[in-house]
Amino acid sequence: MPERLRVLAGDCHVTERGDRTRTHRGRVVVLVKPDNTTLVHDADGYQPVAWLTRPDSVVVEGDGEGFTVTAREGSRQLRIVAEEATAARGLPVTEAGIPVGTCPDDGGPIVRSRGDVVCLDCETRWGLPAGASVTDATCGDCGLPKIRVERGEPFHLCLDPACDPLEAAVRDRFDRVWDCPDCEGDLTVESAPGRVFLGCEHYPTCETTLSIPNGVVVDDCDCGLPVFETATGRRCLDGTCEDGPR
Ligand SMILES: [Zn+2]
Ligand SMILES: [Zn+2]
Ligand SMILES: [Zn+2]
Ligand SMILES: [Zn+2]
Repeated sequence: MPERLRVLAGDCHVTERGDRTRTHRGRVVVLVKPDNTTLVHDADGYQPVAWLTRPDSVVVEGDGEGFTVTAREGSRQLRIVAEEATAARGLPVTEAGIPVGTCPDDGGPIVRSRGDVVCLDCETRWGLPAGASVTDATCGDCGLPKIRVERGEPFHLCLDPACDPLEAAVRDRFDRVWDCPDCEGDLTVESAPGRVFLGCEHYPTCETTLSIPNGVVVDDCDCGLPVFETATGRRCLDGTCEDGPR
């Protein structure tokens, strides 16, 4: 169920207590967000007349005629009293993000918001690998949008890692392709939660690990490892390599 934004309106006394105390009076709209952020808007401009951002507590009381909203944050208090309410209701709200597709389970909109991808109807969330973008393509197995992520080359994978794990794709392509810079071993593709990297096959005798840059292989370095083109320029797979581009 989406969270609810409470919307209240009426002829109100709005009293702020904190460093100083002041009271406004007017026909205003009070918004209480699911995170308790409380905003009082009058007829003018975009800025609230009074507000508290994510206060410790908000209590909304109503008697059918009027309402009282009391928000507290430490020693600060915002109190809104309406003798007569013209509106008092809860409205479903979600986070808003850039639309990237449609949920195959419920047809709901899928948006990208704060680095995650979320269905606004079932509220399923998917994390994205670092540097990934969501594409217009759709997974043939589950119907979710596909993502594009560069780890040596571009991989086009299902948004759901259970459907199409990044580590499996990178392993198919780059397992034992390069040699360990510190011994005779091969570099194998390893994974940890949220991360795919290269490690020496002779672990734990050789403890060399290398993260795979978000970029594509464009050249060979004099050291024998590949050179990656990344958003911040070219670099050797081994970030400490002295032979690498600079
Ligand atoms: Zn959904
Ligand atoms: Zn899929
Ligand atoms: Zn090694
Ligand atoms: Zn190098």
